[in-house]
Amino acid sequence: MALHTATAVIDLHALSNNYQLIKSLSPDAKILAVLKANGYGHGLERIANALPDADAFGVARIDEALALRAAGIEKPIVLLEGFFAKEDIETLSVNNLQTIVHNEQQLSAIVNANVDSPLKVWLKIDTGMHRLGINPEQLARFYQALIQSKNVQQPIILMSHLGCADDKNNPKTSQQISLFNELTSALPSEKSMANSAGVLQWPESHYQWIRPGLLMYGVSPLAAGINIEGIEPVMTLQSSLISVREIAAGESVGYSGTWTSEKNTRIGVVAIGYGDGYPRHAANGTPVLINGRRVPLIGRVSMDMISVDLGENSLDQVGDIATLWGKGLPVEEVAVFATTIPYELLCNITRRVHVQLAE
Ligand SMILES: *Cc1c(COP(=O)(O)O)cnc(C)c1O
Repeated sequence: MALHTATAVIDLHALSNNYQLIKSLSPDAKILAVLKANGYGHGLERIANALPDADAFGVARIDEALALRAAGIEKPIVLLEGFFAKEDIETLSVNNLQTIVHNEQQLSAIVNANVDSPLKVWLKIDTGMHRLGINPEQLARFYQALIQSKNVQQPIILMSHLGCADDKNNPKTSQQISLFNELTSALPSEKSMANSAGVLQWPESHYQWIRPGLLMYGVSPLAAGINIEGIEPVMTLQSSLISVREIAAGESVGYSGTWTSEKNTRIGVVAIGYGDGYPRHAANGTPVLINGRRVPLIGRVSMDMISVDLGENSLDQVGDIATLWGKGLPVEEVAVFATTIPYELLCNITRRVHVQLAE
Protein backbone atom coordinates (compact mmCIF):
# COMPACT_ATOMS: atom_id res chain seq x y z
CA MET A 1 0.00 0.00 0.00
CA ALA A 2 1.35 3.42 -0.92
CA LEU A 3 2.07 5.82 1.88
CA HIS A 4 -0.34 8.73 2.05
CA THR A 5 0.95 11.99 3.37
CA ALA A 6 0.76 12.10 7.17
CA THR A 7 -0.03 8.52 8.07
CA ALA A 8 -0.20 6.87 11.48
CA VAL A 9 0.85 3.27 10.97
CA ILE A 10 -0.77 1.27 13.77
CA ASP A 11 0.82 -2.02 14.77
CA LEU A 12 -1.80 -4.11 16.54
CA HIS A 13 0.66 -6.99 17.04
CA ALA A 14 2.81 -4.62 19.08
CA LEU A 15 -0.29 -3.68 21.09
CA SER A 16 -1.02 -7.29 21.81
CA ASN A 17 2.59 -8.02 22.79
CA ASN A 18 2.69 -5.01 25.08
CA TYR A 19 -0.56 -6.16 26.67
CA GLN A 20 0.89 -9.63 27.28
CA LEU A 21 4.03 -8.13 28.78
CA ILE A 22 1.92 -6.03 31.15
CA LYS A 23 -0.04 -9.14 32.08
CA SER A 24 3.21 -10.96 32.86
CA LEU A 25 4.24 -8.14 35.22
CA SER A 26 1.07 -8.62 37.22
CA PRO A 27 -0.31 -12.07 36.42
CA ASP A 28 -2.90 -12.11 39.20
CA ALA A 29 -4.42 -8.70 38.56
CA LYS A 30 -7.27 -7.98 36.19
CA ILE A 31 -6.58 -5.36 33.54
CA LEU A 32 -8.65 -2.27 32.98
CA ALA A 33 -7.22 -1.13 29.64
CA VAL A 34 -7.38 2.65 29.36
CA LEU A 35 -8.75 3.87 26.01
CA LYS A 36 -9.61 7.50 26.73
CA ALA A 37 -8.91 10.29 24.21
CA ASN A 38 -9.50 8.06 21.19
CA GLY A 39 -7.28 5.32 22.55
CA TYR A 40 -4.44 7.82 23.11
CA GLY A 41 -4.84 8.81 19.45
CA HIS A 42 -4.67 5.23 18.13
CA GLY A 43 -8.43 4.86 17.46
CA LEU A 44 -10.94 3.98 20.17
CA GLU A 45 -12.76 1.09 18.52
CA ARG A 46 -9.69 -0.20 16.72
CA ILE A 47 -7.83 -0.57 20.02
CA ALA A 48 -10.83 -2.01 21.87
CA ASN A 49 -11.30 -4.67 19.20
CA ALA A 50 -7.61 -5.57 19.37
CA LEU A 51 -7.68 -6.27 23.13
CA PRO A 52 -9.87 -9.35 23.46
CA ASP A 53 -8.29 -10.37 26.76
CA ALA A 54 -8.83 -7.09 28.61
CA ASP A 55 -11.09 -7.43 31.65
CA ALA A 56 -12.55 -3.95 31.26
CA PHE A 57 -12.04 -0.71 29.36
CA GLY A 58 -11.54 2.72 30.93
CA VAL A 59 -12.67 5.95 29.26
CA ALA A 60 -13.01 9.53 30.46
CA ARG A 61 -16.32 10.59 28.92
CA ILE A 62 -19.75 9.07 28.43
CA ASP A 63 -19.53 9.69 24.67
CA GLU A 64 -16.44 7.49 24.49
CA ALA A 65 -18.27 4.73 26.33
CA LEU A 66 -21.32 5.03 24.09
CA ALA A 67 -19.12 4.89 20.98
CA LEU A 68 -17.72 1.58 22.26
CA ARG A 69 -21.21 0.22 22.91
CA ALA A 70 -22.36 1.40 19.46
CA ALA A 71 -19.42 -0.54 17.99
CA GLY A 72 -20.72 -3.68 19.65
CA ILE A 73 -18.21 -3.81 22.50
CA GLU A 74 -19.79 -5.75 25.36
CA LYS A 75 -17.00 -5.73 27.92
CA PRO A 76 -17.31 -3.77 31.16
CA ILE A 77 -16.62 -0.07 30.57
CA VAL A 78 -15.63 2.25 33.42
CA LEU A 79 -16.03 6.04 33.36
CA LEU A 80 -12.80 7.16 34.99
CA GLU A 81 -14.12 10.57 36.01
CA GLY A 82 -17.59 9.30 36.76
CA PHE A 83 -20.68 11.01 35.33
CA PHE A 84 -21.05 14.78 35.33
CA ALA A 85 -24.85 15.26 35.61
CA LYS A 86 -27.53 13.26 37.37
CA GLU A 87 -29.42 12.87 34.07
CA ASP A 88 -26.54 10.63 32.95
CA ILE A 89 -27.45 7.91 35.44
CA GLU A 90 -30.18 6.55 33.19
CA THR A 91 -27.64 6.31 30.32
CA LEU A 92 -25.23 4.42 32.57
CA SER A 93 -27.88 1.98 33.65
CA VAL A 94 -29.27 1.37 30.15
CA ASN A 95 -25.80 0.89 28.61
CA ASN A 96 -24.33 -1.06 31.47
CA LEU A 97 -21.55 1.46 32.15
CA GLN A 98 -19.63 1.40 35.41
CA THR A 99 -18.86 4.67 37.13
CA ILE A 100 -16.34 6.09 39.48
CA VAL A 101 -17.75 8.08 42.37
CA HIS A 102 -15.46 10.82 43.64
CA ASN A 103 -17.75 13.55 44.93
CA GLU A 104 -20.83 14.33 46.99
CA GLN A 105 -22.99 15.19 43.94
CA GLN A 106 -22.40 11.80 42.37
CA LEU A 107 -23.13 9.99 45.61
CA SER A 108 -26.41 11.73 46.19
CA ALA A 109 -27.44 11.36 42.52
CA ILE A 110 -26.88 7.60 42.71
CA VAL A 111 -28.51 7.07 46.07
CA ASN A 112 -31.58 9.07 45.04
CA ALA A 113 -31.90 7.66 41.53
CA ASN A 114 -34.53 5.29 40.33
CA VAL A 115 -32.76 2.83 38.05
CA ASP A 116 -33.92 -0.46 36.59
CA SER A 117 -30.60 -2.17 37.04
CA PRO A 118 -28.13 -1.23 39.79
CA LEU A 119 -24.86 0.45 38.85
CA LYS A 120 -21.37 -0.94 39.34
CA VAL A 121 -19.40 1.67 41.29
CA TRP A 122 -15.71 2.32 41.88
CA LEU A 123 -15.23 4.61 44.87
CA LYS A 124 -12.23 6.89 44.41
CA ILE A 125 -10.25 8.00 47.44
CA ASP A 126 -7.75 10.86 47.33
CA THR A 127 -4.55 9.53 48.87
CA GLY A 128 -2.42 12.57 48.11
CA MET A 129 -2.63 13.57 44.45
CA HIS A 130 -5.41 16.02 45.36
CA ARG A 131 -7.10 15.98 42.00
CA LEU A 132 -10.16 13.68 42.19
CA GLY A 133 -11.33 11.54 45.06
CA ILE A 134 -13.05 11.78 48.42
CA ASN A 135 -11.05 12.69 51.51
CA PRO A 136 -10.07 9.85 53.85
CA GLU A 137 -12.50 11.19 56.49
CA GLN A 138 -15.39 10.77 54.03
CA LEU A 139 -14.67 7.13 53.28
CA ALA A 140 -16.79 5.48 55.96
CA ARG A 141 -19.86 7.52 55.06
CA PHE A 142 -19.53 7.07 51.27
CA TYR A 143 -18.78 3.37 51.67
CA GLN A 144 -21.81 2.74 53.87
CA ALA A 145 -24.12 4.77 51.65
CA LEU A 146 -23.00 2.87 48.56
CA ILE A 147 -23.13 -0.62 50.01
CA GLN A 148 -26.59 0.03 51.41
CA SER A 149 -28.04 1.56 48.23
CA LYS A 150 -30.44 -0.53 46.16
CA ASN A 151 -29.08 1.34 43.13
CA VAL A 152 -25.56 -0.06 43.56
CA GLN A 153 -24.30 -3.50 42.56
CA GLN A 154 -22.33 -5.19 45.33
CA PRO A 155 -19.51 -5.35 46.02
CA ILE A 156 -18.11 -1.95 45.10
CA ILE A 157 -14.46 -1.47 44.09
CA LEU A 158 -12.10 0.90 45.91
CA MET A 159 -9.55 2.91 43.98
CA SER A 160 -7.05 5.75 44.12
CA HIS A 161 -4.65 7.33 41.63
CA LEU A 162 -0.88 7.83 41.88
CA GLY A 163 0.46 11.30 41.16
CA CYS A 164 4.22 10.67 41.04
CA ALA A 165 4.65 7.00 40.14
CA ASP A 166 6.87 7.84 37.15
CA ASP A 167 9.65 8.87 39.53
CA LYS A 168 11.08 5.94 41.49
CA ASN A 169 12.80 8.31 43.92
CA ASN A 170 9.74 10.27 44.90
CA PRO A 171 8.61 9.23 48.41
CA LYS A 172 5.04 10.35 47.65
CA THR A 173 4.10 7.06 46.01
CA SER A 174 4.92 4.92 49.05
CA GLN A 175 2.99 7.37 51.21
CA GLN A 176 -0.02 7.11 48.91
CA ILE A 177 0.12 3.30 48.95
CA SER A 178 0.45 3.18 52.77
CA LEU A 179 -2.48 5.50 53.26
CA PHE A 180 -4.60 3.48 50.81
CA ASN A 181 -3.75 0.28 52.71
CA GLU A 182 -4.51 1.87 56.04
CA LEU A 183 -7.89 3.10 54.81
CA THR A 184 -9.00 0.00 52.95
CA SER A 185 -7.33 -3.10 54.43
CA ALA A 186 -10.33 -3.93 56.60
CA LEU A 187 -12.79 -3.58 53.71
CA PRO A 188 -13.63 -6.64 51.61
CA SER A 189 -13.65 -4.81 48.24
CA GLU A 190 -11.36 -5.30 45.27
CA LYS A 191 -8.84 -2.47 44.93
CA SER A 192 -7.09 -0.55 42.18
CA MET A 193 -4.32 2.03 42.09
CA ALA A 194 -1.70 1.42 39.39
CA ASN A 195 -1.40 3.32 36.13
CA SER A 196 1.39 2.31 33.72
CA ALA A 197 4.14 3.71 35.93
CA GLY A 198 2.65 1.89 38.92
CA VAL A 199 2.56 -1.34 36.91
CA LEU A 200 6.25 -0.97 36.07
CA GLN A 201 7.74 0.37 39.27
CA TRP A 202 5.39 -0.21 42.19
CA PRO A 203 4.24 -3.85 42.45
CA GLU A 204 2.69 -3.09 45.84
CA SER A 205 0.21 -0.83 44.02
CA HIS A 206 -1.18 -3.59 41.78
CA TYR A 207 -3.97 -5.06 43.98
CA GLN A 208 -6.78 -6.80 42.02
CA TRP A 209 -7.03 -4.33 39.12
CA ILE A 210 -4.27 -2.53 37.23
CA ARG A 211 -5.10 0.36 34.88
CA PRO A 212 -2.43 0.68 32.18
CA GLY A 213 -2.74 3.25 29.40
CA LEU A 214 0.45 4.62 27.86
CA LEU A 215 2.50 1.45 28.31
CA MET A 216 0.03 -0.61 26.25
CA TYR A 217 0.67 1.78 23.38
CA GLY A 218 4.37 0.99 23.66
CA VAL A 219 5.50 4.22 25.25
CA SER A 220 7.35 4.67 28.51
CA PRO A 221 5.69 6.61 31.31
CA LEU A 222 8.91 6.76 33.31
CA ALA A 223 10.81 9.92 34.08
CA ALA A 224 14.06 7.96 34.09
CA GLY A 225 14.20 6.25 30.75
CA ILE A 226 12.57 5.20 27.58
CA ASN A 227 13.84 1.71 26.95
CA ILE A 228 11.62 -0.91 28.49
CA GLU A 229 12.60 -4.40 27.46
CA GLY A 230 9.98 -5.95 25.20
CA ILE A 231 7.78 -2.90 24.78
CA GLU A 232 7.32 -1.67 21.20
CA PRO A 233 5.58 1.47 19.94
CA VAL A 234 2.13 0.87 18.45
CA MET A 235 2.00 4.11 16.45
CA THR A 236 4.58 5.12 13.89
CA LEU A 237 3.83 8.54 12.43
CA GLN A 238 5.11 8.98 8.90
CA SER A 239 4.89 11.26 5.92
CA SER A 240 7.08 11.92 2.91
CA LEU A 241 9.50 14.43 1.49
CA ILE A 242 7.69 16.73 -0.92
CA SER A 243 10.61 19.01 -1.76
CA VAL A 244 14.40 18.92 -1.66
CA ARG A 245 16.36 22.09 -2.42
CA GLU A 246 19.82 23.52 -1.99
CA ILE A 247 20.43 26.62 0.04
CA ALA A 248 23.60 28.61 0.63
CA ALA A 249 25.25 29.42 3.94
CA GLY A 250 23.57 32.44 5.50
CA GLU A 251 20.07 31.72 4.12
CA SER A 252 17.19 31.39 6.53
CA VAL A 253 14.30 28.93 6.34
CA GLY A 254 10.61 29.11 7.21
CA TYR A 255 8.25 31.64 8.79
CA SER A 256 10.00 34.55 10.45
CA GLY A 257 13.35 33.14 9.32
CA THR A 258 14.09 31.74 12.75
CA TRP A 259 16.81 29.36 11.49
CA THR A 260 19.77 30.34 9.38
CA SER A 261 22.11 27.84 7.77
CA GLU A 262 25.78 28.05 8.65
CA LYS A 263 26.80 26.10 5.57
CA ASN A 264 25.65 25.21 2.09
CA THR A 265 23.17 22.40 2.52
CA ARG A 266 20.09 20.62 1.22
CA ILE A 267 16.75 21.28 2.85
CA GLY A 268 13.93 18.77 2.78
CA VAL A 269 10.27 19.61 3.30
CA VAL A 270 8.11 16.91 4.90
CA ALA A 271 4.33 17.00 4.48
CA ILE A 272 3.33 17.12 8.11
CA GLY A 273 2.56 20.05 10.41
CA TYR A 274 0.55 21.16 13.36
CA GLY A 275 -2.62 20.61 11.30
CA ASP A 276 -1.81 16.91 11.64
CA GLY A 277 -0.91 17.15 15.30
CA TYR A 278 2.85 17.49 14.92
CA PRO A 279 3.76 19.89 17.76
CA ARG A 280 4.24 23.49 16.65
CA HIS A 281 6.68 24.03 19.47
CA ALA A 282 9.10 21.31 18.36
CA ALA A 283 12.47 23.04 18.59
CA ASN A 284 15.26 23.34 16.07
CA GLY A 285 17.10 20.05 16.21
CA THR A 286 14.07 17.83 16.90
CA PRO A 287 15.04 14.51 15.29
CA VAL A 288 13.24 13.28 12.17
CA LEU A 289 14.10 9.94 10.59
CA ILE A 290 14.71 9.96 6.84
CA ASN A 291 16.07 6.89 5.09
CA GLY A 292 17.09 5.49 8.44
CA ARG A 293 19.08 8.58 9.38
CA ARG A 294 18.29 11.19 12.01
CA VAL A 295 18.16 14.69 10.61
CA PRO A 296 17.29 17.86 12.52
CA LEU A 297 14.07 19.81 12.18
CA ILE A 298 14.87 23.43 11.34
CA GLY A 299 12.82 26.61 11.53
CA ARG A 300 9.19 26.84 12.50
CA VAL A 301 6.67 24.06 12.18
CA SER A 302 3.96 25.18 9.72
CA MET A 303 0.37 23.95 9.54
CA ASP A 304 1.10 21.43 6.79
CA MET A 305 4.87 21.18 6.56
CA ILE A 306 8.15 21.04 8.39
CA SER A 307 11.68 21.59 7.09
CA VAL A 308 14.68 19.43 7.88
CA ASP A 309 18.39 19.86 7.19
CA LEU A 310 19.35 16.87 5.06
CA GLY A 311 23.03 17.86 4.84
CA GLU A 312 25.17 19.02 1.95
CA ASN A 313 25.89 15.68 0.31
CA SER A 314 22.59 13.98 1.06
CA LEU A 315 20.91 11.82 -1.56
CA ASP A 316 17.34 11.87 -0.19
CA GLN A 317 14.68 12.45 -2.80
CA VAL A 318 11.15 13.68 -3.10
CA GLY A 319 8.89 10.77 -2.18
CA ASP A 320 11.21 9.31 0.44
CA ILE A 321 9.52 8.41 3.70
CA ALA A 322 10.00 10.47 6.84
CA THR A 323 9.26 9.07 10.29
CA LEU A 324 8.25 11.64 12.88
CA TRP A 325 8.02 9.18 15.76
CA GLY A 326 7.43 5.52 16.49
CA LYS A 327 9.63 2.63 15.40
CA GLY A 328 13.22 3.88 15.22
CA LEU A 329 12.43 7.22 16.86
CA PRO A 330 10.73 7.10 20.27
CA VAL A 331 7.94 9.65 20.74
CA GLU A 332 9.37 10.18 24.23
CA GLU A 333 12.44 11.82 22.60
CA VAL A 334 10.37 14.04 20.34
CA ALA A 335 8.29 15.10 23.35
CA VAL A 336 11.39 16.49 25.07
CA PHE A 337 12.17 18.69 22.05
CA ALA A 338 8.57 19.91 22.07
CA THR A 339 8.65 20.55 25.86
CA THR A 340 5.71 18.23 26.38
CA ILE A 341 4.98 14.60 27.23
CA PRO A 342 4.36 11.69 24.87
CA TYR A 343 0.73 11.44 26.03
CA GLU A 344 -0.04 14.83 24.50
CA LEU A 345 1.70 14.13 21.19
CA LEU A 346 -0.17 10.86 20.71
CA CYS A 347 -3.63 12.11 21.51
CA ASN A 348 -3.20 15.33 19.50
CA ILE A 349 -3.07 13.44 16.18
CA THR A 350 -5.82 15.04 14.07
CA ARG A 351 -8.45 13.55 11.79
CA ARG A 352 -6.46 14.57 8.72
CA VAL A 353 -3.90 11.87 9.46
CA HIS A 354 -4.54 8.65 7.57
CA VAL A 355 -4.48 5.43 9.50
CA GLN A 356 -2.85 2.36 8.06
CA LEU A 357 -2.52 -0.96 9.83
CA ALA A 358 0.99 -2.40 9.94
CA GLU A 359 1.35 -5.77 8.19
C1 LIG B 1 -5.43 7.81 32.31
C2 LIG B 1 -5.60 7.02 33.52
C3 LIG B 1 -4.85 5.85 33.72
C4 LIG B 1 -3.77 5.39 32.75
O1 LIG B 1 -2.62 6.17 32.91
P1 LIG B 1 -1.26 5.80 32.11
O2 LIG B 1 -0.25 6.68 32.72
O3 LIG B 1 -1.53 6.15 30.69
O4 LIG B 1 -1.03 4.37 32.31
C5 LIG B 1 -5.11 5.09 34.84
N1 LIG B 1 -6.05 5.48 35.74
C6 LIG B 1 -6.77 6.61 35.59
C7 LIG B 1 -7.78 6.98 36.62
C8 LIG B 1 -6.56 7.42 34.49
O5 LIG B 1 -7.28 8.53 34.35
